[in-house]
Amino acid sequence: MSTLINPTTGVELDSSPASASLEDADTAIARAHDAFPAWRDVAPGERARLLRAFAAVIDEHLEELAQLEVLNAGHTIGNARWEAGNVRDCLNYYSAAPERLFGRQIPVAGGTDVTFHEPLGVVGIIVPWNFPMPIAAWGFAPALAAGNTVVLKPAELTPLTAIRIGELALVAGLPEGVLNVIPGKGSVVGERFVTHPLVRKVCFTGSTGVGKQIMAGCADQVKRVTLELGGKSANIVFADTDVAAAAASAPYAVFDNAGQDCCARSRILVQRSAYDEFVGRLQTAVTDFRVLDPADERSEMGPMVSAAQRDTVQRYLDDATVAFTGSAPDGPGWWLPPTVVESTDTSEPVWREEVFGPVVAVMPFDDEDEAVALANDSDYGLSGSIFTTDIGRALRVARRVEAGNLSVNSHSSVRYWTPFGGYKQSGLGRELGPDAPNAFTEEKNVFIAH
Ligand code: NAD
Repeated sequence: MSTLINPTTGVELDSSPASASLEDADTAIARAHDAFPAWRDVAPGERARLLRAFAAVIDEHLEELAQLEVLNAGHTIGNARWEAGNVRDCLNYYSAAPERLFGRQIPVAGGTDVTFHEPLGVVGIIVPWNFPMPIAAWGFAPALAAGNTVVLKPAELTPLTAIRIGELALVAGLPEGVLNVIPGKGSVVGERFVTHPLVRKVCFTGSTGVGKQIMAGCADQVKRVTLELGGKSANIVFADTDVAAAAASAPYAVFDNAGQDCCARSRILVQRSAYDEFVGRLQTAVTDFRVLDPADERSEMGPMVSAAQRDTVQRYLDDATVAFTGSAPDGPGWWLPPTVVESTDTSEPVWREEVFGPVVAVMPFDDEDEAVALANDSDYGLSGSIFTTDIGRALRVARRVEAGNLSVNSHSSVRYWTPFGGYKQSGLGRELGPDAPNAFTEEKNVFIAH
């Protein structure tokens, strides 16, 4: 594995885990395959108990996991604690699934017809660096609950929390081989999940480019695949809303995690009559946004994950006209200030492409139709927000925006109780919510003649 660097200081971390080889990946897949029959046959109540025990052990190590993420990924300590808590909560939520993995009894002539949800076998989960803990859990918690075993590949830059979570699974009593964490390269370990016939499903979160390759690769074996990809989500602000409140909340919707968030509302559409007031208030909010050492309890934004990611974002800014920025610490580490661009041209890269950094582009619109057209003028469709006090308009616009996760007068998008996923090139399939375990099963139909 390449050397891990603390993004806050630019200093090398003490330990960098070894990068798994192709043979290591095959060994881990074989181990998961061997562990599958026994895990599938664990009684539902016992599998539920083990998942709850796993959640409890995560909770006991919440601070340790959070501190590890601050060190490895530069997440603010507040966010990192939420993320470790999210792993615990996902496990608790899906611990209810083994005892509720219901089939149906369907009325037919001449007999009885029932359906079963059978686990798939080994599930491969490929995780990006931006939210290492939650994204891993959104895959493994429902997959394990449905009776599958898991091979999990964290991103090259951020393997540490996943490795620790793998160890904690054993502490909680999950049998060896049920959850296998394999740090390594995407082109080696990730690719092997796609080509290995014993991996029955690939659950991928990452860039749209790699997602397309994975989908094409999975086609060869008609392998099941879920894709959670990029986004360029719109925050639509109508003039009838509380403009001050909308402007005050907008920075959190895009600069959280230094903008390295697939759901970042990186385009803000503001109705023209409220535009000047909104931009003025946004400037105040951005100036006040606290970009500090992520270990500082007051920090609202830390550094970018890597020098390479910071350079990518900087290239977008070199070609854009910056309206104003917030602040960021000087000195070592991969810092960028929150940055606002006023866009006038929808063909500009900063308006069209997923920048994946603390950059937001703002543009005015005249009416509802134009707002919807601008929001939908994107290859992506992951999330978005609508600010209005008109309930009819809120529902009309929410129905017309082509995105999987919309919030009205708020910016929430990923809640483990509700389905999450993208339209268009933002993804394929849904994660989370009450139906997630079914996505890790085959529905089998059995007819019994009378
Ligand atoms: P990435 O696509 O480069 O990498 C993601 C993961 O895929 C990593 O673990 C990587 O090692 C692996 N990988 C790379 N090449 C591979 C290959 N050929 N075969 C198999 N695996 C391979 O993405 P990234 O830079 O780590 O993450 C940023 C991207 O992830 C952004 O585009 C962001 O929008 C997206 N993302 C989407 C969601 C979502 O839920 N929709 C959530 C978080 C991030």
